[in-house]
Amino acid sequence: MAKTIDDYRQELKIYNSLTGQKEIFEPLVPGHVGMYVCGPTVYSHVHLGNVRTFVSFDVIYRYLQHLGYKVRYVRNITDAGHLEEDTDEDKISKKARLEKLEPMEIVQKYTVEFHRILDKINNLPPNIEPTATGHIIEQIEATKEILNKGLAYEVNGSVYFDVIKYNKEVDTYGKLSRRKIEELIANTRDLEGQDEKRNPQDFALWKKAKPQHIMRWPSPWGEGFPGWHLECTVMSTKYLGEQFDIHGGGMDLKFPHHECEIAQGKALSGKDPVRYWMHANMLTMNGKKMSKSTGNTILPEEIFTGRNDKLSKAYAPDTVRFFFLMAQYRNVLDLSEDALQAAEKGLKRLREAYAKIDRLPEARTSSWDVDAWTDSLYEAMNDDFNTPVAIARLFEGAKTIGQIEQGQQSLTQTDKEKLKRVFSTFMFDILGLPEEQSEGQCSHNLEHVLRILIDLRNQARKNKNWELADRIRDELAAIGIRLKDGKDGTTWEID
Ligand SMILES: [Zn+2]
Repeated sequence: MAKTIDDYRQELKIYNSLTGQKEIFEPLVPGHVGMYVCGPTVYSHVHLGNVRTFVSFDVIYRYLQHLGYKVRYVRNITDAGHLEEDTDEDKISKKARLEKLEPMEIVQKYTVEFHRILDKINNLPPNIEPTATGHIIEQIEATKEILNKGLAYEVNGSVYFDVIKYNKEVDTYGKLSRRKIEELIANTRDLEGQDEKRNPQDFALWKKAKPQHIMRWPSPWGEGFPGWHLECTVMSTKYLGEQFDIHGGGMDLKFPHHECEIAQGKALSGKDPVRYWMHANMLTMNGKKMSKSTGNTILPEEIFTGRNDKLSKAYAPDTVRFFFLMAQYRNVLDLSEDALQAAEKGLKRLREAYAKIDRLPEARTSSWDVDAWTDSLYEAMNDDFNTPVAIARLFEGAKTIGQIEQGQQSLTQTDKEKLKRVFSTFMFDILGLPEEQSEGQCSHNLEHVLRILIDLRNQARKNKNWELADRIRDELAAIGIRLKDGKDGTTWEID
């Protein structure tokens, strides 16, 4: 008997960074999933590598919903508190100072751009998108509570989390990134401003604002701003609870950001905040790490428009999305012209195959097992969201469609309908590839209008109304649309 969605849901395995193993996914509350993903710091253009991470979690979000879960997906916007490593200055404050703008002008500009890029690449919006500046009170309260528990201390208007004490009294610090505290102590560089900390690996919950610092709020410790790690703890707790199912982000956030989140969460509630930690891997370009300083970098907009010196032409957002999904999210993916061209071709082939399904002949028996193929698609996605394998299965489907077209394979009407449904579910709903090419809705509408005209013309010919039939053909030809009558019906070409 064919499996149902309930069967497939039981088989989902997720690689948990915390345990280093693939585990059967069991949410805390049956039927519901709470998922938090660290969003961007909106002080500059969104990095293409981050876009890849957000596409990965978009597919995870889509698939969980497809499996029947009610998902609450929270992704934050960091608009305060993320410090430059070398100068200890808030990234947004610094940009505002340099560009002589209000910090919120910087935040607005890059938040709008971020949403526009993710929209172009067909990501669904999260259910809640909270900001750090919208949760200052919660961050002050959390800082007070950690101080009360004796796991933080105040120095000169700043409050630091006491990592050594936490490690001794509460839980091992470093369990996600598998770093030993002794090594951390030995390896920590002595940076400026760290002298007021008791231990160099302690991190700020609240920072005193220097006179030139623009973004500042009153607190029990004087005017200052929250530490970056704290915002994710208070926002995830507020919207998903002290413990929730999935926390995601880029690999680079594992340490120290996520390690600090675990420590803060456990210091506050006594519980491990997250059940499944998921980390998306890096995007490289032409075999090298992407980096602004070496010039080996490209903006999403530069790929979409072709306005750059690294690629010979523009690639549509759906091509870039398809390219991202050709690697499993935990693997490094390399961007190159060849890879983008392969993605463009591959996506076209899948779309063309899908468009043929309706016109395939129907047989009394099927020579191809649609149920087994369907199982193999779920198996791929249930194996820690293995999108490249799922895509390979779609290509198998496409190949079979070609064989049916040529009479080498056969499908019954029921199987044909199932093939179409499953193909469309995986390609459009789960992988989030738009059905139409990126030109958009206009060409979609045109296609429908032409179908209607062709039907009317066929009706006219049946009724021997040659005058009307010819008029439809000739007037379309006059605007550059040529109808071609073949044995499989009428198709068209646009000049
Ligand atoms: Zn975060």
